[in-house]
Amino acid sequence: MPRREFLRIGVRLAALWGLGPALAPGIASAVDDLATGRTPVLWLEGSNCSGCSVSLLNSYPLLPLSLLTKHISLKFHQTLSTATGQLAQDVVNGTISKGDYILVVEGAVPTLIPTACTFGGEPFKDHLLRAAVGATAVVAVGACAAFGGIPAAPGNPTGAMEVIGFLQLNGISKPFIRIPGCPPHPDWMIGTLVHVIMFGVPPLDAMLRPTKFFGPRIHDQCPYRNLPYATKFGDVGCQWMLGCHGPTTRGDCVARGFNNGASSCLHSLGPCIGCTQPDFGQNKMYNWPPV
Ligand code: SF4
Ligand code: SF4
Repeated sequence: MPRREFLRIGVRLAALWGLGPALAPGIASAVDDLATGRTPVLWLEGSNCSGCSVSLLNSYPLLPLSLLTKHISLKFHQTLSTATGQLAQDVVNGTISKGDYILVVEGAVPTLIPTACTFGGEPFKDHLLRAAVGATAVVAVGACAAFGGIPAAPGNPTGAMEVIGFLQLNGISKPFIRIPGCPPHPDWMIGTLVHVIMFGVPPLDAMLRPTKFFGPRIHDQCPYRNLPYATKFGDVGCQWMLGCHGPTTRGDCVARGFNNGASSCLHSLGPCIGCTQPDFGQNKMYNWPPV
């Protein structure tokens, strides 16, 4: 990739973190580190739908798709990597034995079904513990990894558990970051990874979410804030009567927009279902009756 393209990416990432353009070359070089694999990333998946990975692939123009799939394809990514079988195990085990990698985990830990999500015959929870030990930081992406999400919904026959709580219960202490969302915005994932490489762990809130992305309240950036209540789905207007979680949910997804800023849940006339909050999957998707 031409240097000019890396610089363009650096400028956009600097803006993402509210940093001046003077830092763009350094950030571009961090992206280059990701691209060349000098900063290894291991991406494991537990109980999940792989929607976070799909969202990651939509990160263009923050990072071009080719950069993600050819280079940031990390040391290993359970959905995107082409390696399978013994080759995949060798790559993962080789990375773990060298240490100094960022561990990204997508999906919850199925604590009651040891044979679910196995890797090379190893139960996911054992595999995760082994991978977490040598990691410089652990990033739980998506609602399922961050807080349990849909797999941990009431009933929870698989014993699905959020990743960081599971690691802490097992005595592992690392720099931990949660990037919730169902799915998370790709800028949240790429922006956080680059920040970890460049500057270390970004400022986090009490739930370990980067405040840059999870500070704003959905309600405060909503296009319908001053409009009358909608009373049926598809109507333009405040979606509160239809169960919107916007007043209690944090994330900059509405202002940022998914699909290169094209839209958001609210822009497409869907109430916010609170996918970045810890109780997502535990309570009703829609706040009926309205709070
Ligand atoms: S639609 Fe939701 S986020 Fe928007 S103004 Fe109404 S309650 Fe707030
Ligand atoms: S608007 Fe609400 S449900 Fe939609 S992505 Fe943002 S936090 Fe999640």
